[in-house]
Amino acid sequence: MDSKASNRIQDLQYFGEFGGINPSVSDSSTYTFLSAKTMFDTFEGNTEGCYLYSRHSSPSNLYLGEALAALEGTETANVYASGMGAITSVILQLCGNSDHIVSSRTVYGGTYAFMKNFLKRFNIQTAFVDITKIAAVEKAITPNTKMIYCEAVSNPLLEVANIEALAQLAKKYNLPLVVDNTFSPLSIAPIKLGAHIVIHSLTKFINGTSDCVAGVVCGTKDFCLQLKDVNSGAGMLLGSTLDSLRAASILKNMRTLHIRMKKHSENAEYLAKQFEADGLRVVYPGLTSHPGHQTMKAQMDTSFGFGGLLTIDVGSLEKANALMELMQTEKLGYLAVSLGFYKTLFSAPGTSTSSEIPEEEQLEMGLSNGLIRFSIGLDNDIHKTYSQMKSCMFKLDILTEKVNTI
Ligand code: PLP
Repeated sequence: MDSKASNRIQDLQYFGEFGGINPSVSDSSTYTFLSAKTMFDTFEGNTEGCYLYSRHSSPSNLYLGEALAALEGTETANVYASGMGAITSVILQLCGNSDHIVSSRTVYGGTYAFMKNFLKRFNIQTAFVDITKIAAVEKAITPNTKMIYCEAVSNPLLEVANIEALAQLAKKYNLPLVVDNTFSPLSIAPIKLGAHIVIHSLTKFINGTSDCVAGVVCGTKDFCLQLKDVNSGAGMLLGSTLDSLRAASILKNMRTLHIRMKKHSENAEYLAKQFEADGLRVVYPGLTSHPGHQTMKAQMDTSFGFGGLLTIDVGSLEKANALMELMQTEKLGYLAVSLGFYKTLFSAPGTSTSSEIPEEEQLEMGLSNGLIRFSIGLDNDIHKTYSQMKSCMFKLDILTEKVNTI
């Protein structure tokens, strides 16, 4: 297998029914069988290549799944109606009553809320740990632990997980390491570093057009079949299946992922370096000041850069809100949650995407009130964007005349 994910994706060819250069879109919820016996065998999971019902699988979902499996270097992949649909299916497939999870404490707010609040119904406990401290992760493992969970680059604090070290630990305790790679597609390949299951919210960079929600679980054939099992599969029974029309459009958008990731990274790195030089508190894994910089460098494909996300702490929520509103008025981006769009998106995670995390825990993990998360867009002239953002900061006294000017 080609070791470069971008080549693996580009080499995949699917032709449409009439030789179209895009595969035909499956527009059916159910499928006919020529024999009742084949229908029975398909229900039992014993028939390769037969479609049963689109909640189970559909040709369009399989095409997208194969492209995502090629991206992550796994045997196969199942697509879902959202990133949370993928995450909750994996967790509920791996964990049952009284089980235990060891998870990074800095994960997407919805994942955190699901683990902390929702899983209580099943008596499933989660130990939230500093994932960069391998000894702390090991200490949290109990005889009931069923998985280690982290984000390769975390939302919103951009902590970098040492996947190789976590994978060794997971191996020692015979546990699956589940990695949400939403922030770093193409840059980080968790499977190559020893992870077992990779999840993405396709809503973000992979689709890249902010027009739908979707998710994926990349893993072994055995695990993906378990998720689809008609009797016990969390994916099949919870019903968070992606619609075929959306799967087809995401596959087409994915064809430009390699170009977009390079541009997002290039723009974000430029802004991070400039703003850091201006004296702002900037967090970006591409900065040598970032505690996870070396870890990321060691485990990434450098041609895709350190990603499109950065954070800036402007000191208070009032200043953060004023700056975001002004930047939106100046057409520098949108005050909106989510990421991976052509336009820059900014939000204050403490009061939005991470608001599920109690305030004292936010402070403990370094999520301060004045923190703004930026998903940097595909701006053609990032120098101009920088100077316009800087003027907004001057206007609001976030920057003062003492700092460098361009
Ligand atoms: N994982 C990460 C890292 C995210 O940032 C998000 C959403 O913001 C999700 C998962 C959930 O994805 P979705 O919104 O597609 O359900």
